[in-house]
Amino acid sequence: MRYLYAGVPIGCSQSRVRVESEYMPNLIIDSQKVDVPVGSTVFEAAVNLGIPIPTLCFRYGYNHFTSCMICVVKEKRSGRLIPACSAPAADKMFIETNSAEVRQARKENLELLFLEHLGDCEAPCFRACPAQLNVPLMLRQVGENRIGEAARTVKKRVPFPSILGRICNAPCEAACRRRLVDEPVAICLIERYVADTDRKTDSPAVPTLRLSSGKTVAIVGSGLTGLSAAYYLQQYGHTSTIYDEHKSPGGMLRYGLPKEKLPNHILDSEIECIRKIGVKFQMGTVVGKDVYMADLRENFDAVAISTGIIESGTTSLDAVVGTKGIRVHPRSYKTDVEGVFAGVGSTRSTHSAVRSVADGRLLAYSIDQYLNAVEVSGPSKRFDFHMGKLNDDELNELMKEADSRLRTTPSDGNNRGYSNIEAIKEAKRCMHCDCRKNRSCLLRNYANEYGADGKRYRSKHRNHLVKLNDHRDIVFEPGKCIKCGLCVQTAERLGETYGFTFIGRGFNCHIGFPFNELLSRGIEKDASEYVKTCPTGAISIKRELVEIPAGNVTTSI
Ligand code: SF4
Ligand code: SF4
Ligand code: SF4
Repeated sequence: MRYLYAGVPIGCSQSRVRVESEYMPNLIIDSQKVDVPVGSTVFEAAVNLGIPIPTLCFRYGYNHFTSCMICVVKEKRSGRLIPACSAPAADKMFIETNSAEVRQARKENLELLFLEHLGDCEAPCFRACPAQLNVPLMLRQVGENRIGEAARTVKKRVPFPSILGRICNAPCEAACRRRLVDEPVAICLIERYVADTDRKTDSPAVPTLRLSSGKTVAIVGSGLTGLSAAYYLQQYGHTSTIYDEHKSPGGMLRYGLPKEKLPNHILDSEIECIRKIGVKFQMGTVVGKDVYMADLRENFDAVAISTGIIESGTTSLDAVVGTKGIRVHPRSYKTDVEGVFAGVGSTRSTHSAVRSVADGRLLAYSIDQYLNAVEVSGPSKRFDFHMGKLNDDELNELMKEADSRLRTTPSDGNNRGYSNIEAIKEAKRCMHCDCRKNRSCLLRNYANEYGADGKRYRSKHRNHLVKLNDHRDIVFEPGKCIKCGLCVQTAERLGETYGFTFIGRGFNCHIGFPFNELLSRGIEKDASEYVKTCPTGAISIKRELVEIPAGNVTTSI
């Protein structure tokens, strides 16, 4: 059966309500006519037409609460904005679901929901990592000795973790919130431990690859940027061939770093992983002598230049491309030559290895857009709520999830890295500042979709950060709650003794447990039900193996 929205089976209203009379209200939604049984809502009528309407506080099969007002639509005859989840469908209604006015109303309603919001979508370490490694997830996995899973988390974003684990300047550690308590978590050493352990297994982790697109890309230059671009392009399903004048790939990594800092066998083994996922190499080939740009442009669907010293408008780039005065767009790395891209970022003054990896990722992203014939804009910024400065009490609240010991020093010295026990011990120092549902949170997804400004309205009296983590499986963060009441209904359905409930009245109303019970006493039944039902990160799973989508996702069965 196919489910379209909020878990509503298509055609549900016809089968759900059998009326004695033949009378069916007839209405128009987005210029399409629909008849629905008496008692249907506008939301159900829209679902029957396959028209999606966003909801947060409403879930099919649950009572509507009409509190988030994100499902507003416009009834044109009356000129009113009405909540689709509860408004009865009536004859001659003329509904608009996605006009500029409706979208603006939804945006403002979302902004109001952030008035009291308290929680970071992304952890400071993640924001600071140019390669966008999901650091908190990796640390939770290492903390539980799930090293294979941690390796998959790392390999999804970082093509050369053993290398970066040795030479990265670790901007993630500079941003780590734990430094406000004592010292940052040793993220770089842990990443190195994960990668080195994985490299020595029979089947080291490789990233998941999309089905082949049949498209090919030539990459000029086999340094970190070029290799990284190839790694990510392969994940998008495009096959890359790397051209370089040297005998062996690696660029500055091979020819510009002391061997004691980065031994060749480590470089070779990580490049081997790139070869394994399908990247081809044409080494000892000089572009402009052995092969010409015109040939690459003719024989490949796109070309990426990543020869290290590249600057917009400089003769070095012109010389590679063979045309004068080429400009490079700073956000997308697209040049003004059709199908040619250039990793200009590698000339930044703050140039670092992890920056080069990020440049490769950006190149791959833009090339993927180009190959899919969509506007080449580079990655867009995703909505990311920041909770700002925390006071000491709030840091202590986050420390409830962290080991209080000081930073672990590798017993065999930094050059040898961590042992298994040391890595686990150090990973447990993480305070888990991220939101564990940050990929599936509907509040975030809709804020992104409607361009909401999370800081437009700010309450003068900020709530105090609280995190309840005494339950074996779940974490409850009241600061992320939108008071939709879905967990209260879930508790009733599951027959909890205590269960979530509304406490207080008016502005002071919040979700909690009767008699201030502990989370572990309040929730005794299947905790995953609450995680699935809660539309935000307020109720999340502690130990995420796979991401659990929140309630109202569009899905097919
Ligand atoms: S609940 Fe959603 S909006 Fe809030 S921090 Fe988590 S992901 Fe971001
Ligand atoms: S404490 Fe953990 S989640 Fe928070 S910033 Fe540091 S590494 Fe990231
Ligand atoms: S904790 Fe309960 S009331 Fe709050 S957002 Fe989640 S489901 Fe809704």
